[in-house]
Amino acid sequence: MKGRIVILGGGIGGLVAALRLKRRLAGDVEVILVERRRTQPFAPAFIPLFLGKREPGRIATDLSAAERKGIRVVYDEVSSVAPEERLVIASRERIPYDYLIVALGAETDSGAVPGLSAAHEFYSLEGAVKLQEALAGFQGQTVGIVIPRLPFKCPAAPYEAALLIEEKLRLRRPRSHQVHLQVLTAEKLPMGTAGPVVGRALVDLLSSRGIVFRPELPLQEMTGEGVLVFPGGQTEKFDLVIAVPPHMGPRALAGSGLAGAGGWVTVDPHTLQSSMDRIYVIGDSASVPLPGRHNPDVPLALPKAGVFAHSQAEAVADNLAELLQGRTPSRSFNGKGSCFLETGRGLAAYGAGDFFATPAPQVSLLPPRRRYRWGKEIFERSWTAFTRGSMAAEKVWRLGERILGLAD
Ligand SMILES: Cc1cc2nc3c(=O)[nH]c(=O)nc-3n(C[C@H](O)[C@H](O)[C@H](O)COP(=O)(O)OP(=O)(O)OC[C@H]3O[C@@H](n4cnc5c(N)ncnc54)[C@H](O)[C@@H]3O)c2cc1C
Repeated sequence: MKGRIVILGGGIGGLVAALRLKRRLAGDVEVILVERRRTQPFAPAFIPLFLGKREPGRIATDLSAAERKGIRVVYDEVSSVAPEERLVIASRERIPYDYLIVALGAETDSGAVPGLSAAHEFYSLEGAVKLQEALAGFQGQTVGIVIPRLPFKCPAAPYEAALLIEEKLRLRRPRSHQVHLQVLTAEKLPMGTAGPVVGRALVDLLSSRGIVFRPELPLQEMTGEGVLVFPGGQTEKFDLVIAVPPHMGPRALAGSGLAGAGGWVTVDPHTLQSSMDRIYVIGDSASVPLPGRHNPDVPLALPKAGVFAHSQAEAVADNLAELLQGRTPSRSFNGKGSCFLETGRGLAAYGAGDFFATPAPQVSLLPPRRRYRWGKEIFERSWTAFTRGSMAAEKVWRLGERILGLAD
């Protein structure tokens, strides 16, 4: 058994795939991880960070644990992929592969909407740090959280942000100076792929906190003074604008023949295989069609979330390990996943379900409870321990799931 598996991207999907492959395969198979950054921030912690509850250093991990496990980590920028030559071209070296796993995540581009670069955002570490400062000194009366385009990663994140910003500002002000929040979104309902019941439950939660939900408003432009311009010339002005920056697939895949509309790579929903031989695409870079879904009113691709990047990485790694050991690959990604949505007051809601269920996804949003808030905390800590090489981290998380009643 010989071979070389190259993994592009050392975020959630890439790291899980690399560690799993190394654990399952003997030394003859070389596992190479190519990543541009020496330290990885844990994106789900950007929200507690801008609320002032985390330090940037505490949410950063690095890939030294992967190196200690015998994975060769190449710190370099991937420029392109040449499938016909089975070659990755990085800025300093060219890396041939036998099998390729692409886990380059999503890129964001505020410049895609004129003027939007002037808005705050929390989809990057730098953005979250700046937003923390802006919220700490905020004296205004109105906050607009705007979602200009779909898809974007973690469909729950802007709603969690709205609920927690409302709580933070309310607690520090007298009643007479309350802040008014709105979420203005291109979506019909929050978390559209999870179905209307989940979406309406979230709208009810927002309105119970006085947050106004404004659907079907794809942003056209933002002018310098916090004025949002929508189709038909409708405008809304806010003292503070926080935007989900438009997302797109990895630039490094342009020209490879892999990327389709929006730069995303369409893959087989169960194997994550792309249309190209020996290339698998996992996590946010992938567009995973939902089996059996033909409703034109609902987004048809799996939401982009770390929980899916994680389980897709496990499925692809297990299948490649079996293939290289001369066995028939048997793992199938099942479209199941869950997430916590912190709602303030020390509580979190819990969304979980099966996105591959037919004729429609079976997803529920369980009402806010204290134990789901603890679950979120355990999830973050176990991920950090995992990236630091703790083999017990996953077991701790599974145990936590059982104790908190989350496991199905
Ligand atoms: C605010 C926020 C909250 C979130 N909360 C949750 C949550 O509660 N639960 C959940 O499941 N998900 C959550 N997510 C989503 C989750 O973080 C992503 O879905 C997940 O990180 C995707 O994993 P990935 O491996 O596909 O990509 P990433 O984790 O983004 O990793 C991609 C990696 O590729 C590297 N890379 C990209 N291009 C290149 C290149 N050209 N050369 C070299 N390296 C490159 C990047 O540096 C990065 O390290 C949240 C996201 C945000 C922003």
